Amino acid sequence: MPSITFEGQRYVLREQESVLEGLLRHDVSVLSSCRSGVCQSCIMRAVDQSPPAESQKGLKESLRSRGHFLACLCRPESDMEITLPGNADLPWVSAKVIGKERLSERVMQLTLRCPDTFSFQAGQFINIIHDDKVRSYSVANVPNGMRTLELHVYRVDNGRISNWIHNDLAVGDAMSIQGPFGDCVYNPAAPDQPLLLIGTGCGLAALRGVIHNALQQGHTAPIHLFHGSRALDGVYLTNEMRALTERYPHFNYTVCLSSNAPPSGFTPGRAADVALAQYPQLKGWRVYLCGNTDMVKTAKRKAFLAGAALKDIHSDPFEFSHAMSPAPPSAASLSD
Ligand SMILES: Cc1cc2nc3c(=O)[nH]c(=O)nc-3n(C[C@H](O)[C@H](O)[C@H](O)COP(=O)(O)OP(=O)(O)OC[C@H]3O[C@@H](n4cnc5c(N)ncnc54)[C@H](O)[C@@H]3O)c2cc1C
Repeated sequence: MPSITFEGQRYVLREQESVLEGLLRHDVSVLSSCRSGVCQSCIMRAVDQSPPAESQKGLKESLRSRGHFLACLCRPESDMEITLPGNADLPWVSAKVIGKERLSERVMQLTLRCPDTFSFQAGQFINIIHDDKVRSYSVANVPNGMRTLELHVYRVDNGRISNWIHNDLAVGDAMSIQGPFGDCVYNPAAPDQPLLLIGTGCGLAALRGVIHNALQQGHTAPIHLFHGSRALDGVYLTNEMRALTERYPHFNYTVCLSSNAPPSGFTPGRAADVALAQYPQLKGWRVYLCGNTDMVKTAKRKAFLAGAALKDIHSDPFEFSHAMSPAPPSAASLSD
């Protein structure tokens, strides 16, 4: 079995065990969150050889070329020496909470002021860290020169970080953020490409960013948003989206409720089922899928079978598998 050497200690991996699983099994503290290759919080660096290609999936070229890899995806075939990335490689920076606004019974908008150096595109996501735990949240706004980030946070029952954000985090508090990550972003090079956006719950956050960016940049082809939730408490921004349909005739908005007997104005059923039944031919379209992991994976397959090119399908599955992680750098020790 291959072994990994980390901070001078050698750990033998079990068959098919990832580097992350092996380290956690030996009680080694490393950051992790989704453990599915999405959130990138378990990034590490190979010291003396190239990591397996599949463990570099989704990483920026600048990180790949310097041997960085995702520990949750890394199943080495030979021995490896590994180290943590430096703060210069993937910095945690300090952001300040400048606003909290309830968008629905379950959804809170959190507005952060980030450092000048922090640049992002609408629809990407960031990681936040609190009480040794990392979580990912999508950026719902278009960069506006004000250094603000808007996040939509759904309060998960018994969720440690979402409840902390809803109940305890206060305007004026500092927090540590990392990123941005992900490619759920608008492509300004194709203004005449129809867009299909499907999101459940706070999957709307990234989609809102993409939509505002597309409309601001003069997208000419139709834009179809399908937002779904099981219950009414996951539906939000209906007024804003309906106002956009009035202002932009090529923007279409369908809000779906999969619970029994939705009130008028809501389409019964699951957002992805409704959307893909309405638009069964997606050749030449660009598709965005965000939210519930099962929905995203199923809809990705169906969109591909309906003709969308894989390169034109952007997805952010809200993967979760949260393990205990070591203490983060304190916000006070980070640059503002
Ligand atoms: C790329 C990415 C982008 C994301 N963007 C957003 C966003 O914009 N807004 C947002 O609100 N969330 C988003 N998430 C999900 C978010 O990162 C957290 O998983 C979520 O807030 C729950 O964290 P928690 O600490 O409150 O719950 P935990 O304490 O981790 O979990 C509490 C319980 O809820 C279950 N659970 C945890 N997460 C989920 C989930 N997503 N769905 C269903 N059950 C869950 C757990 O199994 C556990 O039983 C995103 C995730 C990813 C990977």
